[in-house]
Amino acid sequence: MATGNINVTAENIFPIIKKFLYSDHEIFLRELISNATDATLKLKHLSTLGEVKGDIGNPIIEIKVDKDKKEIRIIDQGIGMTGEEVEKYINQVAFSGAEEFVEKYKDKVEDSGIIGHFGLGFYSSFMVASKVEIFTKSFVEGSKAVRWECDGSPKYTLEETDKTTRGTEIVLHIDEDSLEFLEEGKITQLLNKYNKFMPIPIKFGTREESLPLPEGAAEDAKPEKITVDNIVNNPTPAWTKNPTDLSDEDYKEFYRELYPMQFEEPLFNIHLNVDYPFNLTGILYFPKLSKSVDPMKDKIQLYQNQVFVTDNVEGIVPDFLQMLRGVIDSPDIPLNVSRSYLQADGAVKKISSYITRKVADKLISLFKNDRKAFEAKWDDIKVIIEYGMLSEEKFFEKSDKFALYPTVDKEYFTFEELVEEIKPTQTDKDDKVVILYASDVKSQHSYIDAAKEKGYQVLLLDSPIVSHLIQKLEGSKENIQFVRVDADHVDNLIKKDENQISKLSDEEKETLKPIIEEAIPKETYTVQLEAMDSNANPFMITQPEFMRRMKEMQATGGGGMMGMGNFPDMYNLVVNTNNELVGEILNTKTKKKQERLIKQAFDLAKLSQGLLHGEELTTFIKRSFQMIK
Ligand code: ADP
Ligand code: MG
Repeated sequence: MATGNINVTAENIFPIIKKFLYSDHEIFLRELISNATDATLKLKHLSTLGEVKGDIGNPIIEIKVDKDKKEIRIIDQGIGMTGEEVEKYINQVAFSGAEEFVEKYKDKVEDSGIIGHFGLGFYSSFMVASKVEIFTKSFVEGSKAVRWECDGSPKYTLEETDKTTRGTEIVLHIDEDSLEFLEEGKITQLLNKYNKFMPIPIKFGTREESLPLPEGAAEDAKPEKITVDNIVNNPTPAWTKNPTDLSDEDYKEFYRELYPMQFEEPLFNIHLNVDYPFNLTGILYFPKLSKSVDPMKDKIQLYQNQVFVTDNVEGIVPDFLQMLRGVIDSPDIPLNVSRSYLQADGAVKKISSYITRKVADKLISLFKNDRKAFEAKWDDIKVIIEYGMLSEEKFFEKSDKFALYPTVDKEYFTFEELVEEIKPTQTDKDDKVVILYASDVKSQHSYIDAAKEKGYQVLLLDSPIVSHLIQKLEGSKENIQFVRVDADHVDNLIKKDENQISKLSDEEKETLKPIIEEAIPKETYTVQLEAMDSNANPFMITQPEFMRRMKEMQATGGGGMMGMGNFPDMYNLVVNTNNELVGEILNTKTKKKQERLIKQAFDLAKLSQGLLHGEELTTFIKRSFQMIK
C-alpha cells in the first residue's frame, strides 16, 4: 500500500473545486460517464488496431445507486488503468491523460474524436462525494488491479486489489449535503439531460418487458414478462449517421426524440457535417413558429462528442438562427469559458459562419428543388430569414437567391423577378422603380385597391422588422424605393410626369387651405391639396413613408436613431380639389355649415383609416344622424 500527496500546487484544491469550478454540481455524473465512455471508446479503438487480446464483447457502462450505503457507482468495461497510470492520470491533476493518449496514438486516433475536453473532469466527483474510490484493472495483460482512495484532502491511498474484470469502477461516497443525488428520479433526470445520446450504452437498473403473445393464445392470456437491462441512451443518434442513410421520417423521428413534448412537426432540417477546419456535426430544424412557441423552451442543444453540454448556444450559433431547434456536436468549441471569450474565439467564429452558410445553401436548394413547397413555407420562415438578412451580411448577399416578396394576392417574386415585373409600370419620372407594399390587407384595403386599379403590384410585407429590411434593401440595391400604399394618394405614390388639371384656381386654393386647417387638428395633420380624378374621394388620410418608417424602426430597435426622441404620429390630409364636395365646401357661405362639412368629410376619411375612436366617433355618429334628419 502506498500513500502520498496529490500533485497540486494549491494546498487543498478540493474546496475550490467544490465551490467554484462548476456552479452546477450535477455535472459530476456527466464527467464520470464521459471518462467511462472515453475509456470504452479507447478500448474499442485499440481492439480494432489489434492491440487488445481477445474479444471485447459489447461493453456497456453501468450506474448503480445504493441509498442505504449512500453510494453511487459508475462501472465501465473500458481500458482501465494500471497503478502507474492512476499515479499519473489521477494523482497528477495538472497532467492531462488525454494529451498523453494523443501523443501515444497520434496518427491512429485522429478520426475517432474520442478525447474528452473537460479538463478537471474526474475531480468534479468531489463536488458531491466526501470520499471517492477507484477500482480499476487495465486491459494490458498481466496487469494488477488497484484501488485508489481519497477523502477530499490532498492525501490519497493506492493499493492492489482483487478486481478480476477489465475496466474501472468509481465509487462515490455521497456527502451529506448532496444526498439528493441518491434519488433514482434525480439520476434518471441527469442521465436524460446529459447522456441521452452518448455513444456507449448506459445501464441504470432493469425493467420489465412483455413478450409478444404466442400465436393462438387465449384471449385472457397474460404475456410473459422478462427482465432486461434498462438502457437509458440512444448510442447512435441521427446526427452521427450519414445523411444518405436517413429518410425524412428518420429526421422527424429524431426531432420527437429530442423534444418529446413538442407536437408540431418541423418544416425542414439541415444536416451539418464538416471536419475541416473544425469538426462539427449536427441537425438543425426550422420549426413552425407560432405565437404560442416559447423560444426559451426546446432550444438548440450543444454536445461534445455526444455529451450534452448546454442549450445556450449564444455566440456559437448566429443570433438569427437561435429560433431553430436541433443539435450541434463539436469537440472544437472551448467549454467552461465565458461567453465573451467564446465570441472572440477564431474557431467559434468560423463555426458560426459555417452554420450561416449551410442554412443559406439549404434554403437555396429548397427553393430550387420545389419552389411551390418553399413558397408555402415562406410565412413560417420569413421572420428568421429577414432577421438573418439584417444581421448577417454574408446571409444577406445570398438571400437574393431565396428571399421572397409576396404580393397581396399571394404571388411570390424574388427581388430580381419583382423588379423585372414592375419596371414597365412602376418606374417614376426619375427612373426609380417604386415598390409598393402594404402591411395589413384589411386596414389598407382602399389604398391597395386604388393601386391595383392603376395596374400596380402591391407586396404584402407584414413582419415586424420589415421597415428595417426595406431600409437595407434601398441602401444596397440600385435605383429602387419602397413606398407603403397609404403613404400618399395613389397618383403621388409613383410620381410620373402627367399632371391633372385642377378645377380650382390658385387663388381659390389659397382661400380653401386655411379654412380646412382651422377645422382640423393641424399639429397632427398637414393639409395637402391635390388635383385628382373627380371620382376619387374628397378627403383622404395618408401617412408619409419617411416618418412612419423611422417611427417603426425606432419601435423595433433601430440602431443609429438614439437621441432623436420619440417620433409623433404624423399624417397628411389629402384634399381632392377636383371633387365636387370640395368645391361646395369652398362656396358655402355659412361658416358653421362649412365647418360641419369639413368635419364630416374629415371624420369619414379617418374612419376609413381606422383612426376614429371614442369621443370623436360618438360626435361623428351624432352629427351624421343630424345631417340625414
Ligand atoms: P480528462 O477526461 O479531460 O482527461 P479527467 O480528470 O476526467 O480529465 O480524467 C483524467 C484521466 O484519468 C483521463 O484522461 C484518463 O486517463 C483517466 N481516467 C479517468 N477515468 C477513467 C476511466 N473510467 N477509465 C480509464 N481511465 C480513466
Ligand atoms: Mg474526463
